[in-house]
Amino acid sequence: MNYVIIGSGVAGIAAIEAIRSVDKAGKIVMIGDDPHGFYSRPGLAYYLTGELHDKALFPRTSDDLRKLNFNYVKGRVTRILRDRHLLEFAAGQVPLSYDRLLIAVGAQAMPLEVPGADLEGVLKLDHMEDAKRILKFARRGRTAVVVGGGITALELVEGLVSHGVKVHYLLRGDRYWSNVLDEHESRIVEHRLQEEGVKLHFHAEVIEVTGRNGKASGVRLLTGEFLKCELVAYAIGIRARTELAKQAGLAIDRGILVNEYLQTNDPAIFAAGDVAQVYDPRSKRSVLDSLWGPARQQGHAAGLNMAGKPFAYIKAVPFNVTRLAGLTTTIIGTVGRGRDDDLVGIARGDSETWRQLPECMVAQTGDVNRLRLLVGEKTLLGAIVIGDQKLSFPLEKIISGNMDISLIREKLLRPNARVGDIVAEFWTGARISH
Ligand SMILES: Cc1cc2nc3c(=O)[nH]c(=O)nc-3n(C[C@H](O)[C@H](O)[C@H](O)COP(=O)(O)OP(=O)(O)OC[C@H]3O[C@@H](n4cnc5c(N)ncnc54)[C@H](O)[C@@H]3O)c2cc1C
Repeated sequence: MNYVIIGSGVAGIAAIEAIRSVDKAGKIVMIGDDPHGFYSRPGLAYYLTGELHDKALFPRTSDDLRKLNFNYVKGRVTRILRDRHLLEFAAGQVPLSYDRLLIAVGAQAMPLEVPGADLEGVLKLDHMEDAKRILKFARRGRTAVVVGGGITALELVEGLVSHGVKVHYLLRGDRYWSNVLDEHESRIVEHRLQEEGVKLHFHAEVIEVTGRNGKASGVRLLTGEFLKCELVAYAIGIRARTELAKQAGLAIDRGILVNEYLQTNDPAIFAAGDVAQVYDPRSKRSVLDSLWGPARQQGHAAGLNMAGKPFAYIKAVPFNVTRLAGLTTTIIGTVGRGRDDDLVGIARGDSETWRQLPECMVAQTGDVNRLRLLVGEKTLLGAIVIGDQKLSFPLEKIISGNMDISLIREKLLRPNARVGDIVAEFWTGARISH
């Protein structure tokens, strides 16, 4: 069997590992256009702040990769010829044939569509080269404007602040990440940013990036205000790279549509990771995630199916541990709804599932160490844990295990309930009874 994987991210690597667990002899080729190959994209945030060296971003050693026995082709696939099972490349490389193909090409930042967005110094954060560019600007220690929402915008703010750059953070609405965080949580984050010296601008809409000698020199806002800066960093959402699939006539929506076996409408072609919009038999919806864990699990499932071992991907409760303005934050299950004016669709480190909130009640506690639970009829549907993380592991188990919380439901929903203590006690009891 001749397997080809387009994309050298975590979904692609997980697929190769899964194929090799079934088929030791088949030929595997991975094609990637990122000069750095496979590395941790979530780690780029820590690389920006200087907490991680670039060498620490590589989760596999070259020896690990060698053992998987695959050929790596540096290049960019430009066309899939489905009728001939062939791939065409940019730069005139010889076309490559496949028996089973995995498209694992990820997602890319939505462009900032204002005049001047093509000037030098207007940057996004998709990959390592972007991070290196941002660091180059940041080391000059001048002024930056950050535009957008979600986790990546904050990572940009924090990365720049840690290098002494003066940051203006522009928000279109009246608070940060309004469709995932509640108002109190948004204010916690905003307050921390202000303490770090970040200047927040609410109801701020960029209409132009101005330039001098081809370089960004400032941004003009809808209000007429002008902010002088040399760097404009933006994170206004991402979109799945569906171009190859579209050209090949595969079924697409917001991502490449695949069933629970990660198979497209062409039985020889699979898709996994940020590019895939995966059917979830439980909710009967096709959902996009931009999370490392699901990308790895989808790649694993796709690899097994490609190698002829049927394996259904059952979406786990989405779970992300991240850092918002220096505070460790865990987001589990469904926690919010509505739209966020700072983001177009999904953001990095985000799941559409977080916002499919059915009717439920809210139990909450804490000021800076914040705990918010979404309480359903018999189970917890979601949780946000900010600061103290003692309860994030138990809550992940309680939510993903659909544990019956009827016994504590009423207590949780009482005014001024000690929500954290109630959950801790419940968890201790649940462990003892198992
Ligand atoms: C800054 C940042 C912060 C993040 N933070 C978090 C977080 O806190 N938590 C979390 O869970 N997730 C986070 N994520 C998201 C997570 O990294 C992704 O969900 C995951 O990397 C997706 O893996 P993938 O294999 O689907 O795609 P990718 O890792 O995007 O890999 C796709 C690869 O395909 C290549 N490619 C694209 N087109 C072609 C082509 N035509 N030919 C050849 N190669 C091609 C790309 O260059 C890329 O190397 C973050 C991502 C970023 C960028």
